[in-house]
Amino acid sequence: MPTLATNPVVERLRRLLPTGRVLEGDAQVAAYECDALTAFRATPLAVVVPETQDEVIAIVRFCRDERLPFVARGSGTSLSGAAAPVPGGIVIAMNRVSRIIRIDSQQRVAVVEAGIVNAAISMAVAAHGLHFAPDPSSALICTLGGNIALNAGGAHCLKYGMTSNHVLGLKAVLATGEVVTFGGPSREQVGPDWTGLFVGNEGLFGIALEATVQLLPKPECFHTVLAGYRNVEQAGEAVAAIVASGLLPGAIEIMEKLALDAAVAAVHAEYPAGCEAVLIVELEGTREAVAADRARLDAVLAASQPVEVRPARDAVDRAAIWKGRKSAFSAVGRLSPDFIVQDGVVPRRRLGEALRKIGEWSREMGVRCANVFHAGDGNLHPLILYNGAVPGDLQRAEALAGRILKLCVEMGGSITGEHGVGVEKREFLPVMFNPDEMDCLRRVRAAFDPLGIANQGKMFPPAPADASAPAHSGSAPAQA
Ligand SMILES: Cc1cc2nc3c(=O)[nH]c(=O)nc-3n(C[C@H](O)[C@H](O)[C@H](O)COP(=O)(O)OP(=O)(O)OC[C@H]3O[C@@H](n4cnc5c(N)ncnc54)[C@H](O)[C@@H]3O)c2cc1C
Repeated sequence: MPTLATNPVVERLRRLLPTGRVLEGDAQVAAYECDALTAFRATPLAVVVPETQDEVIAIVRFCRDERLPFVARGSGTSLSGAAAPVPGGIVIAMNRVSRIIRIDSQQRVAVVEAGIVNAAISMAVAAHGLHFAPDPSSALICTLGGNIALNAGGAHCLKYGMTSNHVLGLKAVLATGEVVTFGGPSREQVGPDWTGLFVGNEGLFGIALEATVQLLPKPECFHTVLAGYRNVEQAGEAVAAIVASGLLPGAIEIMEKLALDAAVAAVHAEYPAGCEAVLIVELEGTREAVAADRARLDAVLAASQPVEVRPARDAVDRAAIWKGRKSAFSAVGRLSPDFIVQDGVVPRRRLGEALRKIGEWSREMGVRCANVFHAGDGNLHPLILYNGAVPGDLQRAEALAGRILKLCVEMGGSITGEHGVGVEKREFLPVMFNPDEMDCLRRVRAAFDPLGIANQGKMFPPAPADASAPAHSGSAPAQA
């Protein structure tokens, strides 16, 4: 078998790009073997680092001609294995395709390349009093292309909606090598919402090259409140009460004890002592609107049996509250060598019930689980702790994850709120969709990618003998 250096396909690929932009050797390629869901790994044939849209187009056309599977990779922060490479395929690292093409502060839009880091968009438009609303906790590193592929959310998506609500237009190279443009700076479009169809496709249609994104005015002021509760169900019920009251906060988040302890240890966040769960509620908008909503929020929280309610004293205190929340996923890494971040959704009114069940199952199965989540969306993020070095531990964690996903569907929710299906949850897609719906989804994918080379093995459950999907480092994904 030819080595990477002598592989004729890699040799031809190298001719498409300047020297040094086809990564060679085990050490360079190893960094791309998985995304943030480290339980799924595969070795790509090569990793390419384009710098221009034309280079991306040339690589995709090469893959089409060679029938080589490829995966676009932003920053590899996907928690569902969506950016894991296809064994023997090409990884197209998009980080350098990241120019800001145009900022139109009058129209409140920006045209940017897909490899731009999410937070860099808001930084670039801040001087105009504008921001890009979708704010995944990974905003400082993840890319717009990854946000588009997974229809990413974030704490403030309760009020503003997901990535799909903010992408007005797209230029993409499809897996066929064709370059298409959908939508544009205006919301008035011809026909169905083609841009919306592309957002959330998990890289199965092709590669987003650039996007026209909507910008919003920065809120005039914030009012951020921490409320501590004796248990997570009470916190969940408080969320239902806030929503039922008619308030629409910018964000409503919950963190459970394990995650709170981890955040305190990692970034010295200050949270109310003696509480099993903390609710973070943030009002934002004009001074008048926030002042009016504040009184209503106080009343709802007072009635929700909190142990303590503590409004942020100032902007520094607010930033500290958010730092603890936004660091929670990485902080939990201090508690356990490995963990799965699950991403199911339940109707908000059933949050308390769902959390109670998860707690029962976690105790019954002996698997530690910390909940940190965008409660306002009903979006659960149970962090399921395991040690990959202990035989059977990963399987137990996956069995709990599987039970939680099925519960979400039974309760009228979904198997993913914002992290996508990826390779992690593909076995559960048929739990949500019936056979006719599955056929329809496959036909849509085939319309964009008849060869099935774009991010092969993701989202759809593989046929029994299909070896194309990334291998699990343990055994097969749980069927629980
Ligand atoms: C600490 C932490 C916190 C997180 N918090 C959140 C959160 O609050 N909300 C949330 O939604 N997610 C969150 N995530 C998950 C992740 O950051 C997001 O899903 C993000 O959108 C992934 O972006 P990325 O650039 O890292 O994409 P990658 O992980 O590199 O790729 C993800 C998917 O996008 C595809 N893709 C990448 N670029 C392109 C492109 N140009 N064209 C087509 N497809 C492309 C890949 O093929 C893959 O399918 C978090 C992750 C971490 C590690």
